[in-house]
Amino acid sequence: MKVAVVGGGIAGLWTALSFRKVEVVLIAPDDPSYANTFWAQGGIAAALDPNDSPLFHYEDTLKAGAYFNDKRAAMVLTHYGPTVVNKLVQMGFRFNPRPHLEGGHSFPRVWNVGDETGRKLMEFLYSKAKDRVERVEAYVKDLIVDRGKVVGVRLGNGRDIEANAVVLATGGYAALWERTSNPPGTVGYGILMAGKAGAHLTDLEFVQFHPTVSLTDPPVLLTEALRGAGARLVNDEGRDVVNPLLPRDIVARAIYNYRKKYGPVYLDLNRVDMDRFPVAKRLYDRYGPRIPVSPAAHYSIGGVKTDLWGRTDLKGLWAVGECSATGAHGANRLASNSLLEALVFGYRVALDIENDILEWPRFKFLHEEEMDIAEGEEDLMKIKKVMEDVAGVERDGEDLRRGLEEIGGMGGSGNLARAILEAALWREESRGVHYRTDYPRTSDSFSGRLGVRFKTIR
Ligand SMILES: Cc1cc2nc3c(=O)[nH]c(=O)nc-3n(C[C@H](O)[C@H](O)[C@H](O)COP(=O)(O)OP(=O)(O)OC[C@H]3O[C@@H](n4cnc5c(N)ncnc54)[C@H](O)[C@@H]3O)c2cc1C
Repeated sequence: MKVAVVGGGIAGLWTALSFRKVEVVLIAPDDPSYANTFWAQGGIAAALDPNDSPLFHYEDTLKAGAYFNDKRAAMVLTHYGPTVVNKLVQMGFRFNPRPHLEGGHSFPRVWNVGDETGRKLMEFLYSKAKDRVERVEAYVKDLIVDRGKVVGVRLGNGRDIEANAVVLATGGYAALWERTSNPPGTVGYGILMAGKAGAHLTDLEFVQFHPTVSLTDPPVLLTEALRGAGARLVNDEGRDVVNPLLPRDIVARAIYNYRKKYGPVYLDLNRVDMDRFPVAKRLYDRYGPRIPVSPAAHYSIGGVKTDLWGRTDLKGLWAVGECSATGAHGANRLASNSLLEALVFGYRVALDIENDILEWPRFKFLHEEEMDIAEGEEDLMKIKKVMEDVAGVERDGEDLRRGLEEIGGMGGSGNLARAILEAALWREESRGVHYRTDYPRTSDSFSGRLGVRFKTIR
């Protein structure tokens, strides 16, 4: 049996390393910095302290997610947390001895290597994979589907790789916005590929904006852990703008609105022991203790719909990490739950594939949208401008409709951008990170999910 794992971030590397019995090929571009994982700072959330509990972590996850979470997925995420983090430690990864406290967590449980956790993780996982996993340095252009089953991948150079199972670990789509914390290529190609092949996508309207991305050139994400370590959010006069430890969506909206009405907001690092945060310290040394910040598109909650084993509803295809939508995060991801999600579900995907799969899930949605696929060129610069303009921290119907008109019949990533805008337009309510100024309340009529599927020849 042969498995093709697509993507070289934490989800792809960890999943590839989790197989025991099968032949695995890992397909990803050679540059590790293309992956969001490389840039991850704060760490991995897991309840390891005897005074903490996976149940408290679960409750925090639901609360941050505005109780829109798939409860079983959130339960799996938080209760497998200690196991996978311990596994990393057993494999030789060294975390700092003290976990961070981050916004929305009721206990310090974010295991880290200062604010360089992602880079250290990538170095570690690459070194482990070097001798154990076959690598192909390439981009995947398409999934190969035969009679309703994924049977391999087509590379950018036209070469086909056949596989009995394909695992997508291709990351999210937050770089479809102009102002983003993600590397520029994080535009959801893998998600679009799965959608075009016939898998359901969901939760596309839920995009998390990180509240504290510096207004410097280049912009730098200032980790939530800084706020846990005493950083404040202040105005020109040094007065507090918002409680820095509230969940991300609330802090992001507060900063967005303060800036719109009154003026700049700064992350004040005066009370922080900067030696613990090398990335932030470089900014501190250059700009001083008060760094101007504003929200930026950061994390894609939506993606390819999966069950608790990472199975999509397209036979032969699994998805894991940021490209997947397990439902664990609900309407807003709790800080440092995404690296954890990649570890927990990556392990389960490998376990699932190594056992016989007898049935594939059929997902039920509150509403389904079938969308046409436009072929032709994409204009990424234009997409980024439009998304920034109409689908930011706050949206409304009029702007979203204008955005759809501006994207028009654009091909490539234009298809995913249209799906995101349609999803945001459909959800006539505010919930978690999705805030509609024309529908500022949460509505019982939208208590379920939208499933998006592209029209395709099946
Ligand atoms: C600045 C920053 C800080 C963050 N801090 C934290 C944190 O502290 N804690 C936390 O939990 N989360 C954090 N996150 C989020 C977290 O980093 C991501 O959710 C997580 O790393 C996603 O991992 P992934 O493996 O799913 O995707 P990625 O790490 O993005 O990897 C995707 C991989 O797929 C490859 N790929 C894409 N398309 C193709 C294709 N068509 N063919 C082949 N390969 C392809 C990419 O090149 C890349 O190698 C942060 C994110 C950012 C940007």
